Amino acid sequence: MRYVSTRGRAPVLDFEQAMMTGLARDGGLYLPEAVPMFSAEEIAGFEGLPYEEVARRVTSPFVGESFGDAELRDAIARAYRGFDHVARAPLVQLAPGHHLLELFHGPTLAFKDFAMQLIGQLFQLALARSGQRVTILGATSGDTGSAAIEAFKGLPNVDVFIMYPHGRVSEVQRRQMSTPSEANVHALAVDGTFDDCQARLKDLFNDHGFRDAVGLAGVNSINWARVLAQIVYYFTAAVSLGAPGRAVDFTVPTGNFGDVFAGSIAKAMGLPIGRLVVATNQNDILHRALTGGEYRVGAARPSISPSMDIQVSSNFERALWLAYGQDGNAVAALMEELKSGGFAISQGALQALRETYVSGRASEAETAATIATIREETGEVICPHTAVAVKVAREHLRPGVPMVSLSTAHPAKFPDAVEAATGIRPPLPPHMADLFERDERITRIANDAEAIKSLILERRTV
Ligand SMILES: *Cc1c(COP(=O)(O)O)cnc(C)c1O
Repeated sequence: MRYVSTRGRAPVLDFEQAMMTGLARDGGLYLPEAVPMFSAEEIAGFEGLPYEEVARRVTSPFVGESFGDAELRDAIARAYRGFDHVARAPLVQLAPGHHLLELFHGPTLAFKDFAMQLIGQLFQLALARSGQRVTILGATSGDTGSAAIEAFKGLPNVDVFIMYPHGRVSEVQRRQMSTPSEANVHALAVDGTFDDCQARLKDLFNDHGFRDAVGLAGVNSINWARVLAQIVYYFTAAVSLGAPGRAVDFTVPTGNFGDVFAGSIAKAMGLPIGRLVVATNQNDILHRALTGGEYRVGAARPSISPSMDIQVSSNFERALWLAYGQDGNAVAALMEELKSGGFAISQGALQALRETYVSGRASEAETAATIATIREETGEVICPHTAVAVKVAREHLRPGVPMVSLSTAHPAKFPDAVEAATGIRPPLPPHMADLFERDERITRIANDAEAIKSLILERRTV
């Protein structure tokens, strides 16, 4: 399988190279040149299989020759071994025809574990083979960082540096990043916002001298391997609800557009997804873009669903590339315009996007009210990100078409918002019960690329 950049000016790579590279050297994102298709019979054959076996069948054509079949199977087995639910991604019914897909049974209690645990395993295989050493650098609003640290801590040949905005992540999120004692883990509290962290990340990746000197590798959702791992649960969920014999709709709480984009690839592979509903919080650039056709950046406002407090949604670039007929020059021009605040999506591209996506938003009050209502109606306690999806999903229910809302984090990861809405403080699961007693290790750092570079050079262990 060959991977090409959305901006058309970076080298064509195979799967392993695209995974190790993360961001393309022309600033674009890697995508497969063509999406493999499954027949209805092949999809029907997924029914009743373990999650890991579906993962192997779905990912294998994308991985191509990069890893052998046994290597891939073993990597998948190790990736999901630490999940605390045998189904890995179980469905829970909320109402007739409306289901939650619980994606928080991994080690850090958010859906990011599905992708990060797998790429941790695949990186390990690739590095063992090449003898290469890498410095993983990530920017996080909370969940990506903890998932990356959990996946890469203690691995040989890898250092992992995670930048998060000082004072702007939940205490559970911070402690998941600051308490691992492995020497190759470095949690950096940056004096700035999440958008600052993401901007510094891009600065360091675009400094090709530094990038090559420390072997910089990226595991943010710009990394294609992250998207790939997230395609799998669309298949397991839809097949449990009757696909390929009938269509299934999904609602996805969205920030960087990685998770919902994975759904669009599942659909392109032949899974009968009816509608993909993009659900945003008050930071609604994606909802505004899909309804009004203008992608225009505003100021990110902190919300009770902080993992979605994003203005520049990286993976939307991948959807634009498809909507513009895989025209790298057109995408590069749009991204140039974005530097001065935004761009208008062409009529043709907007029509193409609307064939795949519909959208909605939830205000802060609506999110809190949904947490409370769902608790009263069903007894389920949901996290604020999940509540954004459930609120928007309820506006898009269709008779005869099951709706699946993605439940992206465990409520105990956001206990303050859940307690404010329901009066209940959700407890951490047993494997994390002592999180608040563990010692923390954090480096506070200025919002400055040079300072971050010096720190990386000084601290890295490999
Ligand atoms: C990251 C995250 C999201 C948003 O996912 P994207 O792929 O960035 O759209 C939603 N909910 C939670 C809990 C997250 O951690």
